[in-house]
Amino acid sequence: DHLVNQIAAGEVVERPASVVKELIENSLDAGCTRLEIDVEQGGSKRLRVRDDGRGIPPDQLALALARHATSKLAELADLEAVGTLGFRGEALPSIASVSRLTLTSRVRPDPDDALSDRAGDSAWEVAVALDGRLDGPRPAAHPPGTSVEVRDLFFNTPARRKFLRTEKTEFDHVEQVVRRLALARPEVALELRHNGRVVHQLPAADGRPEAVQARLDLLLGAGFSEQSLDIDVSAVDLRLSGWVRRPAFSRSQPDQQFFYVNGRLIRDRLVSHAIRQAFSDFLHQARHPAYVLFLELPPRLVDVNVHPAKHEVRFRESRQVHDFIQRALQRRLSQGSL
Ligand code: ADP
Ligand code: MG
Repeated sequence: DHLVNQIAAGEVVERPASVVKELIENSLDAGCTRLEIDVEQGGSKRLRVRDDGRGIPPDQLALALARHATSKLAELADLEAVGTLGFRGEALPSIASVSRLTLTSRVRPDPDDALSDRAGDSAWEVAVALDGRLDGPRPAAHPPGTSVEVRDLFFNTPARRKFLRTEKTEFDHVEQVVRRLALARPEVALELRHNGRVVHQLPAADGRPEAVQARLDLLLGAGFSEQSLDIDVSAVDLRLSGWVRRPAFSRSQPDQQFFYVNGRLIRDRLVSHAIRQAFSDFLHQARHPAYVLFLELPPRLVDVNVHPAKHEVRFRESRQVHDFIQRALQRRLSQGSL
């Protein structure tokens, strides 16, 4: 089984950044309001994601590390309407098979449930031993929520380890993953540290536009929001919101293009094409606009279960989605001045 997990890890775990992505998504799925991400040496030496989410009861810690043990799909039918970020039950066992993983959790007390207080009394921890067997659960010290610590990534798969780049490059990838998630979830406070140094410290943004804009500027550079047009257009079933900015002339800035479908960052030809078309009428010199855009549509109109890394989607009505994005942007661009 450890071997099966290592093979699956090949699909999910490419580098430290992919581990960070899976762990943060789990934390968000657990309803956290703050996240701490600690990275050492680009993440290959050690990384830890700590949240204040609902936590995992001690009797379910081992289950969380078992293959295809997701708590997020009550029925297979739910695959049609995946609301959470994770849904395959592969990430934790895969990561554990190529690292030294420790999972520590304490159930968040439910104020409405007197019994839950008892489970929340203490934290518990399981570690995955070298042979894949579980060590624990044993009592640990931890505030309500969950921490996953991953040390020595790929220590037992030298072929993968060889593909890791420099510490700086690996950390850049981690930062990009954090940035993508932090843009989509401004209401979650977030701190990112590398080798003990604070790289991002983002307070939770309440609903006010200024608070969200402050986060945009922290993540994408001072002045981003000031130089941007905000957009919020709805049609039947579809809503497009976010910000678009004109970049410095023709310099390409692929790092500043973020498109989310139902909260999930995606890369899609159809979407890129629609955006390019919309901009082509307005900006002749700038071929690479910067944007942070959120498309929302009913889950039944989009298939996210295309690839384990989950960057791809398939729209049921792709032509309609394309034209909506293009027209919504065109309309906004023709009103505002960039
Ligand atoms: P998936 O996210 O696809 O369900 P994972 O392997 O990523 O699968 O996680 C397995 C299970 O472990 C989750 O379904 C969830 O029940 C539990 N879990 C993982 N991380 C957390 C967390 N940070 N807080 C609470 N529960 C978690
Ligand atoms: Mg997951």
